[in-house]
Amino acid sequence: MYPHITQYIDGEFIQGDGRRETDVLNPATNLPIGKLPHATSADLERALSSAQRAFESWRNSSPMLRSQILRKVGELARERAQVIGRNITLDQGKPLAEAVGEVTVCSEHADWHAEECRRIYGRVIPARSSQVQQTVLREPIGVCVAFSPWNFPFNQAIRKVAAAIGAGCSVIVKGSSDTPSAVVAIAQLFHDAGLPPGVLSVVWGDSGMISDHLIRSPIVRKISFTGSTPVGQQLAALAGSLMKRCTMELGGHAPVIVCDDADIDTAVDQLVGYKFRNAGQVCVSPTRFFVQDGIHDYFVDRFVAKAQAIKVGDGLEAGTRMGPLAQRRRIAAMEGFVDDARQRGANIRTGGHAVLGAGNFFAPTVITDLPEDARFLNEEPFGPVAGIVRFTNLEDALQRANRLPFGLASYAFTRSAKNAHAISRGLEAGMVSINHIGLALAETPFGGLKESGYGSEGGIETFDGYLTTKFISQLN
Ligand code: NAD
Repeated sequence: MYPHITQYIDGEFIQGDGRRETDVLNPATNLPIGKLPHATSADLERALSSAQRAFESWRNSSPMLRSQILRKVGELARERAQVIGRNITLDQGKPLAEAVGEVTVCSEHADWHAEECRRIYGRVIPARSSQVQQTVLREPIGVCVAFSPWNFPFNQAIRKVAAAIGAGCSVIVKGSSDTPSAVVAIAQLFHDAGLPPGVLSVVWGDSGMISDHLIRSPIVRKISFTGSTPVGQQLAALAGSLMKRCTMELGGHAPVIVCDDADIDTAVDQLVGYKFRNAGQVCVSPTRFFVQDGIHDYFVDRFVAKAQAIKVGDGLEAGTRMGPLAQRRRIAAMEGFVDDARQRGANIRTGGHAVLGAGNFFAPTVITDLPEDARFLNEEPFGPVAGIVRFTNLEDALQRANRLPFGLASYAFTRSAKNAHAISRGLEAGMVSINHIGLALAETPFGGLKESGYGSEGGIETFDGYLTTKFISQLN
């Protein structure tokens, strides 16, 4: 039922064939559903040499061809969304509708890159002499390596692959060992769409060994990573020591500012849905809720009631609105935040515990009255826990929202144009969404500030990380 997990190197799907293998688990049961083959050093060398060879011709391919292949990938992904989505539910846990939605919505990344890759323009700079021609070219940077995470296994990988391939680069992807089916499906999509061998490779195995091997290789020119801040810092440090370009999409701890004058019911409805989507394992998940005094109690009561109504269960069961956490260790992580909050006198208004059973289920949790030094208000929870605190004046809320080293997503609800302006200017974040949830569309840039990383995926900025700038001055 669950697909065979293979590597994909030089246009070939490669089975385990005696390589070390580890189990892939279903987080709803913790039972094995498949085997993950681990790359050997020879596999990595083969992926590198084929990526180098493929780059030499792919860099000169016409943007029209790149566009056609990306467009075809988008079409095929939509056709296969049910199957790919079901496999994501099996290895990642999210409810089926969310998993299928991830594939259909994220097919738009292939569409967007298909459109934009035909518009990678250079420019002509007027010269000081009529005999001189000055031009600027934007050229593909070379062989890229992409490390994609387990929370959105299709979305995060296709964004990186589409940007690299659209820019004329070749790319080696190492996805998360916990959720491999979506990345194999992406390799199959590009394979079937006619991508030449070597332009895309997929390898699996030990993250530390693979990232060290690939980043140190002189063949690799660029690294793109989505994951935790500590791992991103390690990878960026290694890449920096070798002067390699990075795009880093790291952790977040998104503040939400809800003012007295907001449409509270709409705010709660949207925020509860978004908070518990993918069991809160989302880098842009709203987590620190700053709610103004006048509406605080009403907001909390409504938020808690809606959180309690969420049906937690196996993502393949009809009616499930929140699946299990992706790994067992995330339960202990959630319990750590809750215990610390309780010890510091906070109120666990609902949830706060694992749900009994074999799977990694944790109840949707709402904590109020958190003191500023609670771990929850300082470390990224990355799970189904919302912390709600009060504020009196907006300046104070902005200061508290900006207090952490993170700066990825942020949200606000207010009917006042003055407040909205102060918030959008005042928040230290790569993305600000006001009065609705409006982030992560293919045509809009996605990325963070501070320890949330650097570089954008999506929007017209999407190719910036994959291109170099070359200036040519020619005397005729
Ligand atoms: P982790 O720090 O162990 O791993 C984070 C990610 O990095 C995983 O996908 C993992 O496969 C990968 N990774 C780990 N070591 C690596 C290495 N040496 N080279 C390359 N990749 C490596 O954390 P975790 O327990 O898996 O996940 C929880 C944390 O991860 C959260 O706190 C969250 O910040 C972060 N995370 C963020 C995103 C995101 O979308 N930004 C996605 C997934 C996880």
